[in-house]
Amino acid sequence: MEDRFGHHIRYLRVSLTDRCNERCQYCMPHEEQDWLPRAEILSYEEILRVIRIGADLGISKIRITGGEPLTRRNVLWFFEQLSAVPGIDDIGISTNGTLLARRDKDDRTTARALQETGVRTVNVSLDTLDHKTYAEVTGRDILGEAIAGIDAAREAGFEKIKINTVLMRHRNEHELWDLIEFARERDLLLRFIELMPVSTTEVLTEDNFLSSGEAKKIIEFRLGRLAPRPDVRTNGPSSYYEIPGSGQIIGFIGAMSNLHFCETCNKLRLTCDGKLRPCLGSHLEFDMREILRDPDKTDRDIARFFLHVVERKPEQHEFRENYQPDRKMIAIGG
Ligand code: SAM
Ligand code: SF4
Repeated sequence: MEDRFGHHIRYLRVSLTDRCNERCQYCMPHEEQDWLPRAEILSYEEILRVIRIGADLGISKIRITGGEPLTRRNVLWFFEQLSAVPGIDDIGISTNGTLLARRDKDDRTTARALQETGVRTVNVSLDTLDHKTYAEVTGRDILGEAIAGIDAAREAGFEKIKINTVLMRHRNEHELWDLIEFARERDLLLRFIELMPVSTTEVLTEDNFLSSGEAKKIIEFRLGRLAPRPDVRTNGPSSYYEIPGSGQIIGFIGAMSNLHFCETCNKLRLTCDGKLRPCLGSHLEFDMREILRDPDKTDRDIARFFLHVVERKPEQHEFRENYQPDRKMIAIGG
């Protein structure tokens, strides 16, 4: 599938749930905790049907997200089915990590079970190494579980483990070096992400926004000049740099400040209630659930729907244009 701007769409990010065991301020405002009714959430079978049809159209990479995907029941069964879909050769998960070290009756961690079902990469969100700050940002004092989860992922032998840190002034700007050290010691790929104006209007203010450029300067102040590494690529819009001396690579994901952010976008998103979104930073979304649940519609109709959505993929996001959030991030799938 190719959009009007020559992007080849190969990547589908799928949200399994809008539920979560954390309440991150920028993702899920505390005052709003109205989960979607179960009937509105796509079943695993419905999701797998979408993915099978997407794979026939050239989708080869799937990242499972949420909410917290590991809070959904029988999630390992889903991953087993997913890895058997022909054409899907790259499966990843985004998680807050807190449930990765949980053990089943055979003493196997969830991380190990995921690795055994064919998950290749794990992205763990970790904004701070300080218990108090973690509790303030996520609403839960479970930093210990998140770190145990990261360690379980390391032991499970995934191909790649990335740590994603949302940059927040007054919250974690003084911890950037510690987070770098944490990632270096564990051989993890750390990426710093700029806050985006999803979820609420208050989430991104002049006061709490810390740009990638500023974060880079803070890091360089102590660690020396970062050398650009355009040759390092992951399947997304990160820019990578090398830290002098250690050779450690770190990344920046600057949706707000990087004007080339959308140039290599190859992604669509499926929300847990069955909306296909061509772009995170646009209000466009298209209801796939209605077609999925219509007995008169065939796989061919769904394929046509995919192409229709790809046709409408915007050239770039609208975050820099006084974008007003419509959905919480937790209900889109980050
Ligand atoms: N629960 C999982 C997790 O925390 O990784 C997966 C879902 S979460 C919505 C996916 C990613 O979106 C996380 O890395 C989170 O930090 C990021 N995110 C959520 N709200 C954001 C915002 N307003 N700006 C930037 N990143 C955000
Ligand atoms: Fe939950 Fe992830 Fe959103 Fe935090 S960022 S509330 S962990 S879904």
